[in-house]
Amino acid sequence: MINEKMEKAFNDQINKELYSEYLYLSMQGYFERLNLKGFVNWFSVQVQEEHAHAMGMYDYVHERGGDVILEAIDKPENNWQSPLACFEHVLEHEEFVTSRINALMDVAEETKDRAALSFLNWYLKEQVEEEANVGGVLATLKLIGDDKKALLMLDKELAARTFVAPVIG
Ligand code: MG
Repeated sequence: MINEKMEKAFNDQINKELYSEYLYLSMQGYFERLNLKGFVNWFSVQVQEEHAHAMGMYDYVHERGGDVILEAIDKPENNWQSPLACFEHVLEHEEFVTSRINALMDVAEETKDRAALSFLNWYLKEQVEEEANVGGVLATLKLIGDDKKALLMLDKELAARTFVAPVIG
């Protein structure tokens, strides 16, 4: 059985993962407006990943005999100055999520919930990948600057990303 403090922490994080899904769906819409379909695809994969992250925790709380109580999801931003500014926001957001996963692991340690700690290890590794992935696109966007042709080449590259359902835990 999951302890109350851990259950609450997971519930909070489920909300944050669903917010991530919502934020990236909003960013997907921004790139639809710019007609950059490769970026649209990249964010559609990101949206599915965040949904999977939320559901992984949703299932885990139930598996441990806890309850999931959903709260309201914050309204995401819907416009950015440029693709670069948008990806700076993505990286900032992923760094925030990493800090949240670390905070969840602190609760697991505090409450000696080793099962939760082991489960959360997957999320910690996932965050390392997320930050590296986003950091890579961001670095390319910085190199591109105002070069429209290079931006279209990156767009083509991002069109190739596909969603692979993660095996969580
Ligand atoms: Mg996530």
